[in-house]
Amino acid sequence: MSASWLIVDSNETPGGLASNDTTPEGFLFDVGGHVIFSHYKYFDGSVLPKEEQVRCLNDLIDAALEARARPASDKPRNFDEWNTRNVGNRLNEIFMRQLGHLDRRDSRHDADAKKVHLKDGTVVKYGSLISTMAVEYLAQSMGDVKLQQMCQPLFYSSTNVIGIGIRGERPERIGDKCWDNCPFYRATIFSNYSLYNQPQQEVKLPTKQLANGQKPTSTEPQPGPYWSLMFEVSESSHKPVNHETLLADSIQGLINTDLLNPEDEIVSTYVRCFDHGYPTPSLERNGALQEIIPYLHDKDILSRGRFGSWKYEVGNQDHRYVIRQSLFRFPLANRLICSFMSGVETVDNVVSGGIELTLNYPDLVNSRANAERRLKGTTVVSK
Ligand SMILES: Cc1cc2nc3c(=O)[nH]c(=O)nc-3n(C[C@H](O)[C@H](O)[C@H](O)COP(=O)(O)OP(=O)(O)OC[C@H]3O[C@@H](n4cnc5c(N)ncnc54)[C@H](O)[C@@H]3O)c2cc1C
Repeated sequence: MSASWLIVDSNETPGGLASNDTTPEGFLFDVGGHVIFSHYKYFDGSVLPKEEQVRCLNDLIDAALEARARPASDKPRNFDEWNTRNVGNRLNEIFMRQLGHLDRRDSRHDADAKKVHLKDGTVVKYGSLISTMAVEYLAQSMGDVKLQQMCQPLFYSSTNVIGIGIRGERPERIGDKCWDNCPFYRATIFSNYSLYNQPQQEVKLPTKQLANGQKPTSTEPQPGPYWSLMFEVSESSHKPVNHETLLADSIQGLINTDLLNPEDEIVSTYVRCFDHGYPTPSLERNGALQEIIPYLHDKDILSRGRFGSWKYEVGNQDHRYVIRQSLFRFPLANRLICSFMSGVETVDNVVSGGIELTLNYPDLVNSRANAERRLKGTTVVSK
């Protein structure tokens, strides 16, 4: 079947909540700790073959090494070059280039005329639209007051992600722990995940501060090694966070929990608040969704994804993630940065009216192996 599709994302880089940032000092932090779970054989089958993974990783390592040798004045000439520099040649080739149109922002959405007006002036006419933006923002972009009211019972919490780059080796004392007397609900030793999540040992960085808040005796750049910690602090109207003291409070929490010593040298800090972090499974939620999702469906709009369909219980990466395969079977111009199994099932629903098990029966898909459906082979697809 021939496919006509278009992806539009308001962010300059793809990935949504499953992406990462790098500090100016070279420490990399995800949007909180991400663990790959799988409830689906189809999901397992779509992970790249081992040889392809090795190729991608080798290119990614080369890209990281080249980035360290490159002067700051050497900027990428275009988005494609930016991608190659960030994810390496092979991942750019098989994945990023396929994403088509990125870096455009929705500005207005005329649901009756089935048109999306992008900020750069482009008007996209669609047959069906899969939207993964938060559903209340979708309602706003449609100027639909009734829908905006329907969305009022939906609640969410924000996630503050804080990262610290530290000079020295990761201390042996850090093992399995319970933490108290600290503002974060989860801490991750992010340097454990990859050698490339922090600068290499020979990179010289000045100390910004000691963990106890005191100034270092010297601000001369010194070599590593380096390790890093990343932790998450939740926030909502019921649990406000003082952003002015968040970093200092968190570092004090690290000392209180023995994750840091007071004299540890901090060489990099990272703080970012993700406004929509966790959809709250509140008592009112199901009633609201039972109105919202069919209301939008009647307009050929499928609101999906972590905050598009607001279901935390099917809000992880195996449920929700960009899927290349689904795009090739999607017949109509649309905006799509969707989820993994939910994305596959949503596209099938548009194409052939298939049932969306993940969206409609979360308890069922989460309680079983979901092995009936498999991906034949694991070939890399291209447009
Ligand atoms: C703190 C945290 C920890 C997590 N831990 C795990 C974990 O351990 N394991 C796991 O599997 N999953 C985890 N997740 C969930 C994982 O990040 C999500 O499953 C995944 O990112 C959801 O994908 P999505 O496409 O549904 O939504 P998102 O990632 O939110 O993507 C939505 C996309 O829509 C775009 N968009 C928004 N508004 C507009 C607009 N107006 N116009 C155009 N584009 C727009 C955004 O830029 C974004 O790219 C975690 C999430 C968080 C926040």
